[in-house]
Amino acid sequence: MSNNGAEEESLESGGSGLSPSEIEALQRKNCVFCHIASGRVPAKKVYEDNECVAVLDINPANPGHILLMPKEHYTIMYQVPEPLIEHLFVAAKGLSQAGLKAFQSKGTTIFAANGTSAGQRAPHFMLHVIPRVPGDSIGMYIPSRTLPQKEAERIALAVSAALGGKIAPHKEEKKEEKEEHSLDAVTEFLTKPTSTGEHK
Ligand SMILES: [Zn+2]
Repeated sequence: MSNNGAEEESLESGGSGLSPSEIEALQRKNCVFCHIASGRVPAKKVYEDNECVAVLDINPANPGHILLMPKEHYTIMYQVPEPLIEHLFVAAKGLSQAGLKAFQSKGTTIFAANGTSAGQRAPHFMLHVIPRVPGDSIGMYIPSRTLPQKEAERIALAVSAALGGKIAPHKEEKKEEKEEHSLDAVTEFLTKPTSTGEHK
């Protein structure tokens, strides 16, 4: 992993005198999710492959609440290699569909608490996949504020500058076509009355 200022620093703070690799080894050793991934701590596994494992959350928000994690120990998303991020989201998609089939849920909340400011408590990066039904009492309150034009411009510039052109939009025409297509599918899926077992 490359060294990056703030995030790495915040992980390594504390003045322990340990090297980054020693801290990492200690984190792995003490990480219950590493032990779950390796099978040393029992958990209800629902999916596993070479890269990741998915288990039932022991304190689920809804039936079928799944924790999907890489087998390797990474604390925050920044550390997770991009191919593994892709892999995790493909697995999350499968788990989401499985929840829709298994529990006749009508939607899925998928999220990562990335960093303590975002409410992260586990030391191991993971995605939550939570089947949702109308009227379930899961509170995911995200405030909705007004965004003045000037501020929108300033914020958009700040994000673009921070990306440094690293993530460039590509194949605009094809992308738009694809998005339109997938949005149609999503709209159809979300508005269609449930017909169990029809979703792939
Ligand atoms: Zn771990």
